[in-house]
Amino acid sequence: MSDQDIDTMLGALPLAALMIAPNERILGANPRALALLGIDLRGRHFITAIRQPGVLDAVEGVMRDGQPRETRFLTNDGSRDTTYRVSASALSMSIAKGVLLCFEDITHVEQAGEIRRDFVANVSHELRTPLTAMIGFIETLRGPARDDAGARERFLGIMAKEAARMERLVKDLLSLSRVEADERMRPTEHVDMAALTASVFHTLSHLAQEAGVRLTRDGALEQADVIGDPDQLRQVMSNLIENAIKYGGQVGEVTVTLSYNPSESALRGAGVSIAITDTGAGIDPLHLPRLTERFYRVDSHRSREMGGTGLGLAIVKHIINRHRGRLRIESTMGKGSTFTVILPAAPSKAV
Ligand code: ADP
Repeated sequence: MSDQDIDTMLGALPLAALMIAPNERILGANPRALALLGIDLRGRHFITAIRQPGVLDAVEGVMRDGQPRETRFLTNDGSRDTTYRVSASALSMSIAKGVLLCFEDITHVEQAGEIRRDFVANVSHELRTPLTAMIGFIETLRGPARDDAGARERFLGIMAKEAARMERLVKDLLSLSRVEADERMRPTEHVDMAALTASVFHTLSHLAQEAGVRLTRDGALEQADVIGDPDQLRQVMSNLIENAIKYGGQVGEVTVTLSYNPSESALRGAGVSIAITDTGAGIDPLHLPRLTERFYRVDSHRSREMGGTGLGLAIVKHIINRHRGRLRIESTMGKGSTFTVILPAAPSKAV
């Protein structure tokens, strides 16, 4: 086999690949392997080209007994850490013998695993806190507070609050997994965002009143049609307006502004935007990029105090993605925040 034959064979492989001869020199490498390990590989001793003990052990093992091996190769592509699954196998053809090394980029699989582990750890932590509190109160009610009617009432009140927190968390988790499952299915119904906002206002008026917050609608739009899933869009509006009320501060004001833009630059087409503005404390710009991550909170204590699960904005983001829309968050410390949802307007509908 000539050098060119080896390069042709390696070039046909969809992975970074190189071939090591029995004399331990590199026989050839495809362009992906050159990009990964550096140019000028041919003729070099494999130890000087690869340098990672796991991979070197695998090559030496295959040379010894001919059995295939798998290992990991960890590197950095300049902007992030990357992980490769390396397979080393003996290649014995009449014209060439040696060890074939293939490098498969599995960084995304590793990242997905990490995200899943973090998620499970977060959920367990969120559930454990109220659960531990409830177990403590049950013990107290069975023991020291058994005959104390006043304490019983108080503890039962706290237990009901903790149970409600767990229920909210489970509800949000289910909602998040449903939204994620639907994310690839395009919604099909006509939804009038003006009517939907009015209806959400009605539902939340009690909450606003309790918080001393004034809810107002701005903008002259009578109708703002989008193609969407009405239940999910209602959830977006409720989550954002509820947050504006919760974090909007006492005696604040929450304004919802609807507008139609025939050429919305964020969507490259006609769009309906719904801006929810509050007069609260605002959010430090530092937090904005991570705000829609699951369980990300600016102030965990305050969020929990307000009955938050830390999942509201993650749900909002997934729903907006499903609708091919955009979410913009702007905030000024001490003045308040504006969350703007931009959705593609329903076609052929004069708004
Ligand atoms: P939570 O259940 O904690 O409210 P969300 O996902 O809805 O969870 O929001 C994440 C975090 O973003 C909140 O904990 C809060 O710190 C911050 N946040 C959301 N909306 C606002 C707002 N209108 N003003 C200030 N902070 C906000």
